[in-house]
Amino acid sequence: MKKKRYLIKISGEILKGTLQYGISWEFIDSFCKRLVAIINKGIQLGFVVGGGNIFRGEFGKIKGYNRTTGDQIGMMATVINGLALAERLRANGVTAILQSGIKIEGVADLFDRDKVEEVFNNHGTVVFCGGIGNPYFSTDTTSVLRALQIEAEYVFKATKVNGIYNKDPKKFSDAKMYDSISFDQILNEKLEVMDLTSILLMKKNNMKLMVFNMNKESLLEKACNGERVGTVVEE
Ligand code: UDP
Repeated sequence: MKKKRYLIKISGEILKGTLQYGISWEFIDSFCKRLVAIINKGIQLGFVVGGGNIFRGEFGKIKGYNRTTGDQIGMMATVINGLALAERLRANGVTAILQSGIKIEGVADLFDRDKVEEVFNNHGTVVFCGGIGNPYFSTDTTSVLRALQIEAEYVFKATKVNGIYNKDPKKFSDAKMYDSISFDQILNEKLEVMDLTSILLMKKNNMKLMVFNMNKESLLEKACNGERVGTVVEE
């Protein structure tokens, strides 16, 4: 029987927990315990880590940095997060390898699909860092690319909000959350879910997306069990 396989996008925002900046070790450790419990049920999880808790290319732009250099700093931030996540996954008992979009010998291997399969077949997991290795892209786009490359069934965007709303729920008390929505609707209504490149890549390649609150009612566990939670985006 084919095993369930999902790609989880973990933004820097999530990794900082309640901190203003950086990595919350407490959060990562408790999060990894949940992830390992899911992996131990035979579910194959791959992770793409963001870097916004440390640096984003946009921060560099404000400070007058060259965009390419700023984005390279951002990609290195994702490597730092990737190292932290992979280490905590290992500390909690699973084999976790780190694969990068940028060459960073001795720290992470480059993306290698055969190696990913081998690790999954041995009940391990893969953390993808370094984005796609090029500036002007985001880790949203990286998540979709890696999900397609490893033939994951879904991209899960684990967030602090419950799902996708028709307007910002923090600003509008009458904001409504969608149970399901199409990529066209996201584009037409200019909903800020993930960046445009990643939305188009999913739409073009029939990838599905689920956006849910990872801190709430075991939604992550339910999603990994095949249930529809939060907002599902398809076709
Ligand atoms: N980045 C990049 N190319 C990529 C992925 C990321 O240049 O393929 C840079 C970009 O500067 C970005 C930063 O890395 O702002 C951190 O990634 P992202 O903003 O996607 O992280 P998140 O918002 O998910 O924490």
